[in-house]
Amino acid sequence: MQLIDGKHVAATIRERIAKQVEQIIAAGGKRPHLAGVLVGHDGGSESYMASKVKACEQCGFTSSLIRHDSDVSQETLLQTISALNNDPDVDGFIVQLPLPRHIDEQRIIEAIDPRKDVDGFHPINVGRLSIGLPCFRSATPAGIMMLLEHYQIDTRGKHCVVVGRSNIVGKPIATLMLQKATPGNATVTVCHSATPDIAAITRQADILIAALGKPHFVSADMVKPGAVVIDVGTTRVEDPTSPRGWRLRGDVDFDNVAPMCSYITPVPGGVGPMTIVSLMHNTLLAATRQIYP
Ligand code: NAP
Repeated sequence: MQLIDGKHVAATIRERIAKQVEQIIAAGGKRPHLAGVLVGHDGGSESYMASKVKACEQCGFTSSLIRHDSDVSQETLLQTISALNNDPDVDGFIVQLPLPRHIDEQRIIEAIDPRKDVDGFHPINVGRLSIGLPCFRSATPAGIMMLLEHYQIDTRGKHCVVVGRSNIVGKPIATLMLQKATPGNATVTVCHSATPDIAAITRQADILIAALGKPHFVSADMVKPGAVVIDVGTTRVEDPTSPRGWRLRGDVDFDNVAPMCSYITPVPGGVGPMTIVSLMHNTLLAATRQIYP
C-alpha cells in the first residue's frame, strides 16, 4: 500500500506556482490577485479562508478579504460581487460557502463573472467542464486529478466508483474521470443516498472516491483488494484528547481499509491540501488569461 501524500504534492505544486509568479514579475507583469468574500464568523469558514490567504502568500499572490456580517443583505452582497467583477486588479475571487439561509446561494454564484470564477462553480464553467472545454475546474476534483497524475495512477478503462453527487465534488469528479483524457477515460458509476446496496457497487471499484461526509462509511468489506481509494470526506468529530476539541475524520475507515489498497489518501493530509493548491492554480490561470484569453 502506498500512501498518497497530498501535503507533499501540494507543496511541490505551490513552489512551481511561486516560481512562475517570480517570472511574471521579473518580466514586468502584474502579481496575481485572489480576493475572498467571507460572510459571518463561522469557525470552519474562517479557517478555510485563513488557509487560502496563507497559500496566496506562499505563491506570491496578492490576496484581499472582504468581510460582511451574517445579516448582510443579498443586495449588498451582489454589489460586492459586481465591484469585484469590475475591479481590473482582481484576477479571481471566491465567495466562501455556505452562506446564511436568507441568501440565495445560486443567485450569488451566477453573479460572479465566469472569467473570475476560480472556484469553478458558475454554470458556464460547469457546462464547459462537462463538454471538455477549457474552464476553471472545481478545486477539490481538480486536486484529485493532480494527485492521480502525480502518482501516475492508471485510470484508463478502470471502473471508478464515486460515492456522493454534490455539485462541488461528486458530479465534477465523475465528469473528469469520464473524460477522454489522462487521467480520466474511466468507466464511472456514481452512487448516492438513493442507491441500494452501495457495497455491491463499491466492491467493483478499481478506483473508489468517497465524497459523502459520513465518517468511516467505507468499511474494509466494501473495498476490492488492490483498489485506489480517495477519501474526500472531512467531518469534524468531537475529540477531547485533541487540543482543538475536535479532529477531522474521513469517509473511509482508514485503519482497516488501508492494508487492502494499492493507494490511499489519508485524512487529513490527502485531498484537503490539494483543494487549496488547485485554487491557487486556477488563480494563476485567471491572471495569465489561459482559460478565457
Ligand atoms: P454534500 O453536498 O453534503 O453531498 C454529499 C453527497 O453524499 C450527496 O450527494 C448525498 O446524496 C451523498 N450521501 C450522503 N449520505 C449518503 C449515504 N448514506 N449513502 C450514499 N450517499 C450518501 O457534501 P460535499 O460538499 O460533496 O462534501 C462531501 C464531503 O467532502 C464532506 O465531508 C465535506 O466536508 C468534504 N469535502 C472536503 C473537501 C476537501 O478539500 N478535503 C472539499 C469539499 C468537501 P444525495 O445527493 O442523495 O443527498
